[in-house]
Amino acid sequence: MRSLLGAAALAAALTSGLGAAVLMPASPPERVDAVPLTEAEVTPAAGTSLQGRVIVLDPGHQLGNGRFPDQVNRPVDAGGFDKPCNTTGTSTRGGFAEATFAWRVAVLVKRRLEDRGAQVLLTRGANRRDQWGPCVDERGRLGNALADGRRADLKLSIHGDGCDGCGAGFHVIAPESRPGWTDDVAEPSLAFAAQVRAALRASGLPFAPYVAGGDGLDVRGDLGTLNWSDVPVAMVELGNMRSRADARRMTSKAGQRRYADALVAAVVATLP
Ligand code: ZN
Repeated sequence: MRSLLGAAALAAALTSGLGAAVLMPASPPERVDAVPLTEAEVTPAAGTSLQGRVIVLDPGHQLGNGRFPDQVNRPVDAGGFDKPCNTTGTSTRGGFAEATFAWRVAVLVKRRLEDRGAQVLLTRGANRRDQWGPCVDERGRLGNALADGRRADLKLSIHGDGCDGCGAGFHVIAPESRPGWTDDVAEPSLAFAAQVRAALRASGLPFAPYVAGGDGLDVRGDLGTLNWSDVPVAMVELGNMRSRADARRMTSKAGQRRYADALVAAVVATLP
């Protein structure tokens, strides 16, 4: 792990996380403010080997979630509090589904990581209207216990945001440090999130102006996918699907490749 974070920023992140967790209620905890981080430089060497690495990719939602409301709305433990199993996700104004966007980017990232020798696990095996889930707790746990007794090295949850009238841009979400849940992975997860942010920024993409002070990074304790992970994890909202500018990129093959290339660069830069 390269040292990417200012010590003060990291300490503040961990301290605020612990402080919020002390009063952990039955309902989802409040979001904490984003942590300012120094910009990391992402310049992975071409051909860097990921041999022996195991990476979990979580393409958000499932295309058929809207057809299975009973299953998708069923409460599950999202980290010491209940939330719905999953949601339908958002879409562009033209109707291009977030589930499909996340799936296409995840498949591109998977191929690129496998080309470098990594083993890649997906939290869902298809993008289909006749399927739903899995639930966020299952997504969060995948990779915690591999068949050979190891854990995955990293987990990346891929999404697109849906915020009307909010503008364009991406943001990355790291798990808040919560005792018994994410306190063991919060620090490396924040470092991974910083690499994802840096890689997307290096690709010329703007920070979402409407989230957490507009610095492209948020820290949250209310997401089951992050809370359940025992391996370093980050979630990325690659763009705002309700923004015309982002929607154009997110629906195009070239745009999806651009996102995938940046995400692969972030993984390569994160794994020592
Ligand atoms: Zn989503």
